[in-house]
Amino acid sequence: MGNWRDAHTMAELYEAIKDCRLCPLGETRTNLVLGTGNEEAEIMFVGEAPGYHEDRQGVPFVGPAGQFLDQLLRSIGLRRSQVYIANTLKCRPPENRDPLPEELASCTPFLFKQIEIIRPRIICTLGNHATRTLLKTTAGISQLHGKLIRRGGLAYVPLFHPAAALHKPPLKAVLIEDFQRLREHLEAERARWSSEAPAEEETALPAVEEQPEQMGLF
Ligand code: URA
Repeated sequence: MGNWRDAHTMAELYEAIKDCRLCPLGETRTNLVLGTGNEEAEIMFVGEAPGYHEDRQGVPFVGPAGQFLDQLLRSIGLRRSQVYIANTLKCRPPENRDPLPEELASCTPFLFKQIEIIRPRIICTLGNHATRTLLKTTAGISQLHGKLIRRGGLAYVPLFHPAAALHKPPLKAVLIEDFQRLREHLEAERARWSSEAPAEEETALPAVEEQPEQMGLF
């Protein structure tokens, strides 16, 4: 593996990690799926892990959940090319099983590097996995969705995963409404950044106990 810590662009990061074998998913993937979109995006979306289509194409959110995500983006006047989309895991777990703690421990430093490259105004965590991984909380997505949460100098808006809404149709309306809230959060963050307002207080959340292998954000 190359020296990914020095990467300044996604292309450099991809080049450095594309042959990663830090965890066994490196043996079974077709492609490492780093992310897609605009490296200067104001909003970054973080899903769970690549599925079948993403593994084949090397691009995140290209299957049915991705098509719904595109619709949600269009509903607030955004296109894929204006945001950045990534996952907590860069390689597909067999049969789309949940990520294992050791896989997350190997892979999330790459996600933190992506956040460092993009410096988005808002990070949307999609579903429980991304939310709990990034916010290090035991609180679930049902409690947190649509709210703006401040952590470590970053602003997060957890959202239901688009795939969950495809399985449970009532969640579709919730996601559509949360995207409207996301647009309002973005406008508020733009105003805050341009007025150079003092840093806001962190949001209190029930924390998971820190594991030795968990990494700080930067
Ligand atoms: N679900 C995810 O969490 N990520 C993808 O890339 C596709 C589906």
